[in-house]
Amino acid sequence: MTQAVLVLNVGSSSIKYQLLALDDAGEGDRLATGSVDRIGEKGPGTLRHRPADASAWERTEVFASHEQALDSVLEAFRSAGPGLDAAELTAIGHRVVHGGSRFTEATVLDDDVVGTLRELNPLAPLHNPPNITGIEVARKAFPGVPQVAVFDTAFHQSLPPSAYTYAVPREWRERYSVRRYGFHGTSHAYVSRRAAAFLGQTVEETNVIVLHLGNGASVCAVEGGRSVETSMGLTPLEGLVMGTRSGDLDPAVPAYLQRVAGLDAEAVDRELNRSSGLLGLAGSNDLRDVQKAAEAGDPDARLAHEVYCHRIRKYIGAYYAVLGRVDAVVFTAGVGENDERTRVLSTQGLERLGIRVDPVRNAAAERGERAVSAPGAQVPVLVIPTDEEIEIARQTLAALA
Ligand code: ADP
Repeated sequence: MTQAVLVLNVGSSSIKYQLLALDDAGEGDRLATGSVDRIGEKGPGTLRHRPADASAWERTEVFASHEQALDSVLEAFRSAGPGLDAAELTAIGHRVVHGGSRFTEATVLDDDVVGTLRELNPLAPLHNPPNITGIEVARKAFPGVPQVAVFDTAFHQSLPPSAYTYAVPREWRERYSVRRYGFHGTSHAYVSRRAAAFLGQTVEETNVIVLHLGNGASVCAVEGGRSVETSMGLTPLEGLVMGTRSGDLDPAVPAYLQRVAGLDAEAVDRELNRSSGLLGLAGSNDLRDVQKAAEAGDPDARLAHEVYCHRIRKYIGAYYAVLGRVDAVVFTAGVGENDERTRVLSTQGLERLGIRVDPVRNAAAERGERAVSAPGAQVPVLVIPTDEEIEIARQTLAALA
């Protein structure tokens, strides 16, 4: 039996959605995908609706609110198909960025759960409020359809205290919930499970290091299907160098900048999140631009890629130590799936750990799940394309089962 799930990812000024049909094994078909941008902004935004079996449907207008944008999405389904009634929507799965310590798994939404989610807003002031708006609008639009919150943080709730605890004063930890939460959980869950299947092993017997390298980037050590360490922390700022985020830095940097540059905490936070990373080092947050500039001899771009890969290599070594035994190192997301140079440079010098990328396999134009290490490698290096929407749909149905 297949079940239809609408996956909604509502951001502060955008909505991304997919309608998926999942079979009993959790394998899925995309029936439609789409997006709306510039919601709540002055100028017009665009709704792009792409049904799998019909031509794309586009509309440009001012989307004053998330309500209006979601109404237009429903109209797109009515006009261009597939009909949501005909698809017999089983459920709606909402991506929610931060579940704090309250939510350890995907959770069926009711008024109480929405109230609890609201209490978590201070932990993720940029992400959670629009997620909640999306939930409220969708609950009104589909009163009869069960809806589920699927959290980016939930997969990491299995972290042991030694990994999630920051060595900071008790009051910060207890009163203000300062600890490592981790993000990209749906991607790490999906990719680590697919990696076990690729290796022909059960999830329970498989240890992998997953490198999710997109605009945001994080590493996760997965032991027997459970996240035991991850690089993002209280917020998605910690860890790897990202498109616009710095990742790790000395925690004294904000206070230093306050003293010497008069920047307040909010300003430093903004710049570390939006003007740092590849953008801060090389002038673009898109690794393709950085690579092009590096090829043309731009020293800043070259350094940016070296810093980016050096950070990844450090984390592979650290997470190898955390896991003790590693069955595979897995690359995923935009950079991880597509950029062969990042896979080479970030694993260079790790041969003694059994990690070595095979130049021919790594450079092959192949797509899809594949090994980029030589056959028989001690620690296979894999590329597994991530699919967060399928994972959200799968967790949505599991929460309702
Ligand atoms: P998001 O985190 O927004 O989902 P993606 O997973 O799509 O982002 O990753 C975006 C990143 O992937 C960008 O830095 C982009 O440059 C990089 N990327 C995408 N395709 C390629 C490619 N063919 N070669 C190198 N980098 C790529």
